[in-house]
Amino acid sequence: MERTYIMLKPDALKRGVAGEIISRIERKGYKIADAKMMQLGEAILKEHYAHIADKPFFPELVDYMTSGPVLAMIVEGPDVVQGMRILMGATKWEEAAPGTIRGDYANCTTENLIHGSDSVENAEIEIKRFFGK
Ligand code: UDP
Ligand code: MG
Repeated sequence: MERTYIMLKPDALKRGVAGEIISRIERKGYKIADAKMMQLGEAILKEHYAHIADKPFFPELVDYMTSGPVLAMIVEGPDVVQGMRILMGATKWEEAAPGTIRGDYANCTTENLIHGSDSVENAEIEIKRFFGK
């Protein structure tokens, strides 16, 4: 069974919509295989977001991602990496279609509620990074 790394970002928990987002994941037929609350620090974020660490918005992203706990999850299902990316919606708020998590809940690009791995290979790297397995 394929698995992916999903993370509910601090705004999802602050706004109290974590349950609604998890319901959408479960309703799609995916299984929450593991979950834990984490307070992230700058070091793990520099690793996790290495592909954008040189962008001008990176300091703002670190401030946001360290502003409160995240809910780290391993989600399982058939083709779940691609399926979760579709369920999440596009990164940019203005491109995230209604009906997607970001399209329905996000009104800016930084605070976009949820992270999901972008490839099967990265899913395994990220699961190892956050769960050590
Ligand atoms: N991000 C941002 N501004 C941008 C692009 C991205 O603040 O112009 C943030 C946003 O929270 C996004 C994260 O950086 O989810 C990681 O960016 P990536 O391109 O990997 O998008 P994702 O895979 O999360 O859709
Ligand atoms: Mg990404």
